[in-house]
Amino acid sequence: MHYVEAFVIIDASNMNDKVPYLEQPCERCGGKKAISKVRNGKLQNLSGVSKIEYSQIICMDKTCQKEFETRLQEKTEKEAAIKLKREENKAARVRA
Ligand SMILES: [Zn+2]
Repeated sequence: MHYVEAFVIIDASNMNDKVPYLEQPCERCGGKKAISKVRNGKLQNLSGVSKIEYSQIICMDKTCQKEFETRLQEKTEKEAAIKLKREENKAARVRA
């Protein structure tokens, strides 16, 4: 069994591995964390198909979590804008 969190696959064949992670206080407000979403999936790898579990860890503090989501969205939008600008510059160079 594998757990996926923030696009990183953590080998959690030992269920206890999951608990210390949750016990880590929130790095933003120091509050408690919780598993918000668990989704089962399959992952194709060299040794075949392995069952994986996607879990999203959120902060129990609603204000903190909301702020985090807003920031994440801003970051994503910013990165997309930078990428677009870069592609525009590239296209401009090709034309020149
Ligand atoms: Zn928090």
